[in-house]
Formats: sequence, structure tokens, C-alpha cells
Amino acid sequence: MTQDTAPFAPKMPVVFLGHGSPMNTLEHNRYTEVWRTLSQHWPRPKAILMISAHWYTRGTAVTAMQHPKTIHDFGGFPQALFDFRYPARGDAELATQVANLLEPTPVTLDQGWGLDHGAWSVLAHVYPEADVPIVQLSIDATLTPDQHVQLARRLAPLREQGILIMGSGNVVHNLGVMNWQAGAPAYPWALTFNHEVKRLLHVHDVNALANYHALSGAALSVPTAEHYLPFLYIAALMTEDDPILELVDGVEGGSITMLSVQIGESERVN
Ligand code: ZN
Repeated sequence: MTQDTAPFAPKMPVVFLGHGSPMNTLEHNRYTEVWRTLSQHWPRPKAILMISAHWYTRGTAVTAMQHPKTIHDFGGFPQALFDFRYPARGDAELATQVANLLEPTPVTLDQGWGLDHGAWSVLAHVYPEADVPIVQLSIDATLTPDQHVQLARRLAPLREQGILIMGSGNVVHNLGVMNWQAGAPAYPWALTFNHEVKRLLHVHDVNALANYHALSGAALSVPTAEHYLPFLYIAALMTEDDPILELVDGVEGGSITMLSVQIGESERVN
């Protein structure tokens, strides 16, 4: 279906970023170096719809405030991280549009959340000027993976309207067995699961990605779903003709994979 009457907007890519430690906000490493370069290759978005692992709710909500606050949703990190602010504006109009697109799922227009560290730890590098409005979409913890896929697909029209849909989580995320020593080797199950997820993405098999429990290493790689689901939202938005670009990958602490992927074209067209 073409929208002849709509003003021309290049189709936006959709992106998943493996965020890892909140300290990545302040650090410069091989992940943040890649994040820093990304926006040069994309059309400039009108706004970002962010799906972060750290807004895991009962029911679905979107942030609808004009000035989302920077939420420091962690403990035990240096003061510099608590002092960090990401002053991007919100976009109430986009929030309403998202709520409409997700019908018949009820969506709360939220005034209480803001930007959690899943959002700002990566945005600090991707858009360091904080000059692109951000709306966050919560992840309903009560839905099945298939229901998340169905929900995500209703967001597809936003790609034609200059909205950058971004997921922030980690494909493999197990803090319980994390090895805090520098240079800790990856657990074999983490590598196996991460590799299989990449393979399934490259063959556009969203059903298998939704049925991730069946994959080898899943129980230890995804002990809780919240860090995997932002990836599933991004995978669900993939169409057959979308190229898939692996942006960066790696394993931190043995049990966190830092895979970031882009789905869709990356040439700058405006
Ligand atoms: Zn996280």
C-alpha cells in the first residue's frame, strides 16, 4: 500500500542496542565507539520510540510528558552517573499516535516515568546533543512473546513517518552468574544462544525468535525476559526486503552479550 498523499519520508531503519552496564554512558569503549557513529548513517529522525528493558510493567504505557526526567534506576554506581542528565524533550503527539496504533490494546499515556538508563545510556552516545524527542514504550510483563510480536508489528507505520524505533536490552543477560573479573571468558551457553539468535535473525525467522525458550542455552541466557524482549520488538518489525546489519557484538562478564543490530537501510538520504 502506498501513501500518495503523505509527505515523503525515507523509511527508517529499526535498531536494537545491547546496552550492558550503565557505566557505558560515561565510558569510551568498542561498543560506545560504534554507537557514536550510527546517526551519521541514518536519516535524521523526527523522534525516537524507545523500548527499554528497564520499563517492564503490567499493561502497556507510553511516556506522554513534554519533559521526561532522567531516571537513575540503579544503585552502587559512582556519583558521576547519578549526576548525568539526558534532557531530550518528549513528544505527546507521538505518544498518542502510538496508543492509537496499538489498539485494541489499552495504552496508558504516562506522566510519571521518564527516561530510564536503558534509554539514556545508549542515547548519550547515539544522540549526545539530546536534540531528538523521545517517547518510551513500556513492555507488558504479562504478555506472551507472540503477543509482543503482534504488538510490535502494529508500530510498523512509524518507520514511514521518520520515527526511529529503537530497542535497548541484551540478547543474553544473566547477572546471577556474571563473572566480574576483567576479561572473563564467555560461558559456552551464552555464545551458543547468541549465535543462534543471530542466525535466526539473518533468515528472518521471527517465529523462532519468539519461541526462544526452545533454543539451546535459553534457560541460562534469558532467565528473565525483559532484556531479550526489546530485541524481539525490533526483530518483529523486520520485513523480507530489510537488510540486516550486525553493528557490534561481544560478551561482558561471561554472561551479557552486547549484540547490536540494525534492520533496514542505512544510507543517509536527507
Ligand atoms: Zn539493562
